Amino acid sequence: MVEVPCPMCGQSDVVRLSSRGQYNDPANAVLCTHDGFVYLSPRMDAAGYAAYYAQSYEEEYRVEQGDAAIRPVYGLVVDRLAPHLSDAPTTALSVGAGLGSILHLLKDRHPTLACSAIEPTPGAQRHLREVKGFDVVAGDIESDWDVGREGHYDVIIMRHVLEHLLDITSALDRIRTSLSEDGVAYIAVPDMMHPNGSLRHYWYRTPHVSYFAAQTLRHFLARSGLEVLDMVEEGHEIWCVVRKGEHGTHDVPASHAREQMSVIRKHVRSTAIPHAIQRLRWAVGRRLGRG
Ligand SMILES: [Zn+2]
Repeated sequence: MVEVPCPMCGQSDVVRLSSRGQYNDPANAVLCTHDGFVYLSPRMDAAGYAAYYAQSYEEEYRVEQGDAAIRPVYGLVVDRLAPHLSDAPTTALSVGAGLGSILHLLKDRHPTLACSAIEPTPGAQRHLREVKGFDVVAGDIESDWDVGREGHYDVIIMRHVLEHLLDITSALDRIRTSLSEDGVAYIAVPDMMHPNGSLRHYWYRTPHVSYFAAQTLRHFLARSGLEVLDMVEEGHEIWCVVRKGEHGTHDVPASHAREQMSVIRKHVRSTAIPHAIQRLRWAVGRRLGRG
């Protein structure tokens, strides 16, 4: 396990939030007191995560779903992108493509679209190539897949991937590099300002190393020269559509750390009481049952 400085400000002044997450796996969630960014530290190093994804990730997380089940979720992505696309985008890339369902729906609307994918899982890679007929350009998202593909893609999709990556800025830099001049990227992440379920038993997760809020996501996008065309906090996620812009800065308000902490405290209170009542009822029920 390695200690990691805050990916936003580079400092290491943190409040500890949790040591465990989903499945009772280690998840040392911390909040940076300077900017409110929430991330895991200490955590496994790159080699540790590579081994983790090779062994346990597929078993624990990937659920094979039928087309009917995924259409509403992935169709929403295509709908959100639609107003920002030119009439005839020619090239699309899905980063962390899974079984390629979003690309599939996008190709339904734009039949001549050439679809490419980056996907680490061998089974999913096979499906993408053999069933969907898409090009798998890389397995490792954090490799140099953008080299030779500068300005290439009209559409890039990176849905619920960024929170997994050890180097946020390097990933966003590659997105910018590989976008065409009029290209757009769709990026979605879980929203730390609107968490869902128990933080300790569901929200914090070994594979999620970063927990973005709209403010902190804007900071990373600006740093990598991605201009926000649209950003929406909806349900428990933030989604945005970005395009190639100028490198800049987005200063997170000084109040953000306090606001983030307040959201976490309120959420813990609101989920802790129902859980405690449930446990109490169960304990009382057992005693009465015995008497
Ligand atoms: Zn920080």
